[in-house]
Amino acid sequence: MASEFLNDLFNAGILIPLGEDGVYGRSAVFEAVVEGLTAAALRSGKDQKAEKLRFPPATTFAGLKKSGYLESFPQLAGTVHCFCGNDRDHRALLQCIGEDDDSWTAKQQVSGVALTPAACYPVYPVMAKRGVVPEQGYVVDAFSYCFRHEPSIDPMRMQLFRMQEFIRIGTPEQVETFRNMWMKRGQDYVASLQLPYEVDVANDPFFGRGGQIMADAQREQKLKFELLIPVNPDKLSACLSFNYHMDHFGEIYEMHTADGQRAHTACVGFGLERLTLAMLKHHGFDLDAWPGEVQNFLWPNGRE
Ligand code: ATP
Ligand code: ZN
Repeated sequence: MASEFLNDLFNAGILIPLGEDGVYGRSAVFEAVVEGLTAAALRSGKDQKAEKLRFPPATTFAGLKKSGYLESFPQLAGTVHCFCGNDRDHRALLQCIGEDDDSWTAKQQVSGVALTPAACYPVYPVMAKRGVVPEQGYVVDAFSYCFRHEPSIDPMRMQLFRMQEFIRIGTPEQVETFRNMWMKRGQDYVASLQLPYEVDVANDPFFGRGGQIMADAQREQKLKFELLIPVNPDKLSACLSFNYHMDHFGEIYEMHTADGQRAHTACVGFGLERLTLAMLKHHGFDLDAWPGEVQNFLWPNGRE
């Protein structure tokens, strides 16, 4: 059963149900907002002269393993498995398929591919391979569809959604300055969208009992902040995240700054699906009826 808001989105044809919670088609209206929000995010980061890097929405399984994601978030990871049988296996498969989904599963083999959980994940190993981080550090602009296995009837929690990120790699000072600056800029961005919001300290959903300790430590050290927007009646939803990883990725990928210290990293993530839904919730489904300033902010050259 879909939530009331999700039903409204389906009825308006803005999201298209595909039979799996959190996996939807998108209409032209939805995409116009995503495109406007992405372009506006890039404009607010223009002075950063970020290096643009794009990766497919899947990465390597080895890469995901190396990143530490499977230790912290095994419940969210998606790995790709494929049929690798011969003709006979195929015939057997076709006989059983439809009656018994397990026969399909039984013939699957792990491929080297895993789905990207966050737009910044493929960036760190690529930058680390370049050698010592230059004195000015790096700023990277990354955008990707991301997968997380968290099926939900809440449209704010999808399994496949897009993230625009800016990533900073450098000294602790450079990275902290970057995060503080983006916390301010993120608020200006959402204020320009004329959305209500608040910023709060947060934690990632680390798995299991050990995960609680990680989550507590992350909160205590204020390593993660979220910009939250009310969309659902009873809870706020994180639409932007400001993450300071300290030397987590510097250690994993043996990435060092010119002074020989491990590189620190941070990222700011714009959740494009959540921001789009927040806009539709607060300003309505008719984009032409949105406040003029908001339309100008999103589509300075008009909407296609
Ligand atoms: P939450 O706490 O709600 O699970 P998060 O803070 O763990 O989200 P991040 O890992 O920081 O999310 O991801 C960056 C951004 O991506 C979030 O601020 C959010 O806008 C968006 N996002 C995360 N998970 C989802 C999802 N399941 N569906 C849609 N957008 C998401
Ligand atoms: Zn990130």
